[in-house]
Amino acid sequence: MKMILLGAPGAGKGTQAEVICDTLHIPAVSTGNILKEAVRKGTELGVKAKGFMDAGQLVPDDLVISIIKERLAEPDCAGGFILDGFPRNVQQAQALEELGVAIDLVLDIEVADEDIMRRLTGRRVCASCGASYHTAFKPSKAEGVCDRCSGELIVRADDAPETVAKRLTVYHEQTEPLKDFYEAKGKLAIVQGQEEVADTTKLVLDTLSRYGG
Ligand code: AMP
Repeated sequence: MKMILLGAPGAGKGTQAEVICDTLHIPAVSTGNILKEAVRKGTELGVKAKGFMDAGQLVPDDLVISIIKERLAEPDCAGGFILDGFPRNVQQAQALEELGVAIDLVLDIEVADEDIMRRLTGRRVCASCGASYHTAFKPSKAEGVCDRCSGELIVRADDAPETVAKRLTVYHEQTEPLKDFYEAKGKLAIVQGQEEVADTTKLVLDTLSRYGG
């Protein structure tokens, strides 16, 4: 099964990718995670990508396409994979076709913009140990202080409200057209993202079993 998870940033693609990964025993490939790791390590790729990411913009296509090309050539992807966060625009989807990748299913997780705003702007991470929290859904015991190491809890640059708004605009303008792109190919399935992760997971797994996953 070669599948794509579509959906706005914060729709829960990463979380659902993990579940699908465990269910179908295929790797999840997240360009966002690969890029964040590169930024953290300060590699050449990370240095090139950081400014775009902090501003809530897409990293240039040539960079992400070469990441995907390399990653999908690794042996663990031979039996299928889940793409989380790629493609992000029609050019990237076309590049995937040019690489000879035939996608079986595109699963779109729909969440309203105001819910995305609430989810992402409430996220906090510990500046020292990286533990993650949420002001509404997973608060720390003392406000602004990590339960684990007493480090300071901060808002990641790309979770700041103005950056989330920018990421949502980019999503609607550049990524959402992919729904029509894949619908025209008969590959699109839509799941309504639920408040509870487990409820969304159930819908995702139901959809997968309908498509032979
Ligand atoms: P994500 O965790 O998927 O939201 O990705 C974090 C950031 O990485 C995004 O806001 C983009 O700046 C960048 N990024 C991730 N995937 C892509 C992609 N396929 N194309 C361009 N930029 C990407």
